[in-house]
Amino acid sequence: MKRLGKLVGITVLGLFMIASFIYMKYKPLYKVTLNGEVIGYVENKEKMQEQIDAFKENLEGNITSIEINAMPEYELELVSSVKESQTSEDEVLAKVEENSTIMCKTYAIKLDDTVKANVETQEEADTIINEIKADTTEGVELNLVVEEEVKDKKEVEELNTTSEIAKLNINQDVEVKVKEYEEKKAAEAAAARARQIAAAKKASQVSSRSGSTSTSVASAGASAPVVSSGMFMRPVSGGTITSKYGQRSSGFHTGVDLAVPTGTPVYASASGTVVKAGWSGGYGYLVVIDHGNGYQTYYAHNSRLCVSVGQSVSKGQNIAYSGSTGNSTGPHLHFEVRINGNTTNPLNYI
Ligand SMILES: [Zn+2]
Repeated sequence: MKRLGKLVGITVLGLFMIASFIYMKYKPLYKVTLNGEVIGYVENKEKMQEQIDAFKENLEGNITSIEINAMPEYELELVSSVKESQTSEDEVLAKVEENSTIMCKTYAIKLDDTVKANVETQEEADTIINEIKADTTEGVELNLVVEEEVKDKKEVEELNTTSEIAKLNINQDVEVKVKEYEEKKAAEAAAARARQIAAAKKASQVSSRSGSTSTSVASAGASAPVVSSGMFMRPVSGGTITSKYGQRSSGFHTGVDLAVPTGTPVYASASGTVVKAGWSGGYGYLVVIDHGNGYQTYYAHNSRLCVSVGQSVSKGQNIAYSGSTGNSTGPHLHFEVRINGNTTNPLNYI
């Protein structure tokens, strides 16, 4: 009996030692899986769930909603204590967040109904708009508005930009508007001058006629061009007018667009001297003819030019072939008439 007791004692001690050894080397941990993928090990599954719930409830800043698309599953395991170092509640939470749809607010600054920049707060957007308006030439109308948009957080993080960059983006378009406004003002001033000259000419012709000798024909009226009608001809045969001179949604249009297939001959609208024949930015391949008395005509977006600078051209001479070069969305001739450098409505001449 004594022997048996001793044996039991040794056995118990042995088992205890083995158990302690296992306990030291292995630990019961919860294996966390999300959508079937192991994402980490945690000691306490209740605590982990609490953290997830807290994350869901604490909507911070611009977050409007969180929808957790997949909830983690827990499985108790005896895990080698080496793995304990991999235990991370933060990582589990990050994975849950990654698998969630988080919606955020962003503030879009729109210029003429087009989003130009997104910032984080309404105040920031208002400040940007006020600063831009304060810096813009008086008289230029800016249709700038702020609109709250709710979007996916990942998208919002990409969209939101600093005030500085937002201002740079918007100012690019504002500069174009200012330029157009100034051109329009200049054109109006030129038109007013032209009307004055026409009126003066008419008055002198009337007075010289009453003085008996003159046979000249008076110009048709205050709104008619200064030059005699018939001086200019249509620079292409046919061609549908697809855009007239004047304000359009994309900005002020400085000429008239005549839609013609690429390769259509372009004719000098009146006789004169070629002052430009080559590439000119948005105009693409451009010909400019000077007709004297401050009159110039522009022929833009050509595919090929037939004249060179300094060349004299006669009315109706083939100067180029139409195309769609430069800032153009389709084959057409962009035709301009300028008086002393200011654009005017070409349809008054052709
Ligand atoms: Zn045009």
